[in-house]
Amino acid sequence: MSLIVLVGPAGVGKGSVVKELLGHGGYRLSVSATTREPRAGEVDGEHYHFVSSRVFERMIENAELIEWAKVHGNHYYGTPKAELERAAAERVHLILEIDLQGARQIAGAGIEHIGIFLEPPSWEELERRLRSRGTETESEIQTRLATAREELAAADEFENRLVNDDLGTTAQRIRELVTKREEKK
Ligand code: 5GP
Repeated sequence: MSLIVLVGPAGVGKGSVVKELLGHGGYRLSVSATTREPRAGEVDGEHYHFVSSRVFERMIENAELIEWAKVHGNHYYGTPKAELERAAAERVHLILEIDLQGARQIAGAGIEHIGIFLEPPSWEELERRLRSRGTETESEIQTRLATAREELAAADEFENRLVNDDLGTTAQRIRELVTKREEKK
């Protein structure tokens, strides 16, 4: 079982790449805990574990999270240890779609993983994709673009950098990285 840490700016297409990976079987997306409100259509326990700040703080105190961060300046997000344990027990590769701060914590803790930074073909394309989702307000888009600028500057911290031109190709490259890692074990 491999742990895949997938990072990239909002709008780069992480969600679509993940969907493509999940469609082939053998992969699972980790369900994070968050203090943000669910968006329309989001299901508790499926997209996120939506929790109060009190519950999130308790999870930190009880060391139930392998990493956690305040993202976009206002909400907390974290990966429950239980997600890793479940994936290991069920022998599936686990994908963590987390922010840069979380990825740095995983690397810093010496947890074995495949770090992947997903890059947009261009800055203009990233902005276009982010706006075309229609899920964020203009002010949220501006916050995400500012975060994206910071994240893109950190791309070279990652062992693997993939330009997400075509999601089928990107997903295939990720599967190859996983196969290579599994062969080394
Ligand atoms: P959204 O609110 O749009 O679902 O996610 C916002 C950001 O939170 C994304 O950049 C995503 O990568 C990040 N994120 C989601 N779950 C986690 C997590 O468990 N840990 C960390 N560090 N970031 C997360």
